Formats: sequence, structure tokens, C-alpha cells
Amino acid sequence: MAISELRKDPVVDRWVIIATERSKRPHANRTRTESGRDEPCPFCAGREGDTPPEVLAYRDPSAPADTPGWRVRVVPNKYPALDSMGDISLPTDSAYVALSGVGAHEVIIESPKHCLSMAELAEGQIEDVLRAYRERLIVLQNDRRWKSILIYKNQGSAAGATLEHVHSQLLAMSIVPREIDHEWRALVSHHDMTNSCLYCEMLDRERSDGRRIVLESAAFIGFCPFASRFPFEIWLMPKEHSPMFDSVANDELRQLAFMLRQSLQRLAGIVDAPLNYVLHSAPLKEAKRDHYHWHLEILPRISKIAGFELASGYYINTVAPESAALQLRELAL
Ligand SMILES: [Zn+2]
Ligand SMILES: [Zn+2]
Ligand SMILES: [Zn+2]
Repeated sequence: MAISELRKDPVVDRWVIIATERSKRPHANRTRTESGRDEPCPFCAGREGDTPPEVLAYRDPSAPADTPGWRVRVVPNKYPALDSMGDISLPTDSAYVALSGVGAHEVIIESPKHCLSMAELAEGQIEDVLRAYRERLIVLQNDRRWKSILIYKNQGSAAGATLEHVHSQLLAMSIVPREIDHEWRALVSHHDMTNSCLYCEMLDRERSDGRRIVLESAAFIGFCPFASRFPFEIWLMPKEHSPMFDSVANDELRQLAFMLRQSLQRLAGIVDAPLNYVLHSAPLKEAKRDHYHWHLEILPRISKIAGFELASGYYINTVAPESAALQLRELAL
């Protein structure tokens, strides 16, 4: 039996994960200063026994699994929001729809050292992290229960991190989350009308305008989107149309590591705020999934989500993306 439950709001298309096990996390629901470490960190090298056994690690080949000698390590979340045992269906009535909380919830530990920020990692280390994302996406896609796989980072307690050691998370779900679904439906309907990709058009427009561009490589563009929700929000997007992150080539992984590290360092140079990033990749099962265009959204959390955002579902951004891009672009590193 799954330990959590997915419930759909009876009126609007909004799912909630009821996951009571997660309240047992060591620091959940407790305030604590980020630097005040009061117990050994389970993500540091040497503490491998404190996590569930690894599902992937890049390590010295002579070192056995779940021992030190790794560069990046992926483990199941000890307090999962969703777990991979069990069946999806749950008896429900027509108004109150619920699914059992089946999913895969993994943690990507991005360094054996106790770093607090991804911007501190070397480019090759970030490349390993991105390669681990690709590898787990390829493996988990084969499980027919999953309709979408989210990869995201919470950095800093104000951005939702309960452990400060640099890490990101992966959640494979039996539904397509609303954010992905919104984007995907808009891209499909635009494609049906015009036979072109709205994100590809957006990139053309950003490149000819130039004011919102932060950085660029041969294969990627980093820009502050026209309707940025947060000050200094940056999106990294492949220039060539590409629906799924798992098809990213090795050379592109290297470029993306450069782009991501540069973006994080530039952000740290200006705001040094807690942040989230989310990897948006096509839903796994939809027929027109090729109309999606994957990207990474970096969301610095300078402003808090408050009453207005909760009441409206909209955001108030106090820094124009044109000014944010100019500052980010011109910062000397
Ligand atoms: Zn640590
Ligand atoms: Zn496209
Ligand atoms: Zn997106």
C-alpha cells in the first residue's frame, strides 16, 4: 500500500499530495538556522549508511556501492512524497477523485563535500549532475505507470530545502502536473494552428531583441523571460527544438553545465537569494509530446509567495526582466 494519496480538488484541476510520512522528516515543521548543524549530514561522503541504498552513482570503479569514492550519488528519498510500491487506482466516487500516492521520489546528491550552493561546484561536477538527471529519466521512463518526471532543486530553507547539503530531487508521477500540462497544451494548440513551436518563435524574438538575453552558447540561450514571475528569473533553453531532456547529447550536457554554472554565479553575484530550479520536459505518454520544448527555469526566491499570489495565482515582480538581464549580463565574474 502506498503511503500517500493524490487528491484532486472537486472543482478545479488541482491535485494535492497528502503525505503524512513527510512530517517525520528530521527538521520538517521546525525552524532552524541554516548554518546551525546539530547532527551529522546524511548526504556527506562517509554517511552513505544514513540514506537508502543508491540507485545510481558516479564513482571510482574500485569503490563498492554505498561507500565513499563517489562524485554524484542518487538515492531514493527517505521520506518520499510518493513511493513506488503499489498500484495507482484507489476506490473513489465521482466527485472526490483520489489516486494512491504511487511515484518515485529520488534525491540527487550533487557533491560528496558539504557544499551549500550549486554555484560553488566545478563545471565538470555540474555536468555529472546533469548526466545523472538524463540517466535516471531514461531508466524511469520505461516504467509505464509514470506520465511525467519532474526534476527540481530547492536551495536554501526559504526555498524549501530541509537539508542544506547541495542536492536536487526527482519525482516520477502518474499524472501530468498542471505547470507542464499548461505549457504543453498551449504549445500543441499553437502548433495545430501555425505548424510551428511557440518556444522556438519566442527564442527567435529574444535573439533579435537581445535586451533579455543573459548568456548564450552554441546550443543554448539563457534569458530573463518577458513575463518573469520572480526578480532575476532565468530560463535556459536549447536553440534547436527538442521535446525531452533525455535526448540531450554529451556535448550539450557540457554546454548546459557551463550555462547553469554561469547563471548561478551571476545570480549569486547580484542577489545571493535562496532559489529553486525546475526542469520542464515533455509529458511521457501524450501523443503530441514532440510539440513540447524542454527548458530549465531558474527561480530566485527574493520575494515571498503571499496573499496576492495565493488569491490570484499571479505574481508581482519588482525587477523588470530587461533590467535584470542587463545586470546579470554585465556583471564581471
Ligand atoms: Zn553534507
Ligand atoms: Zn521549439
Ligand atoms: Zn516551463
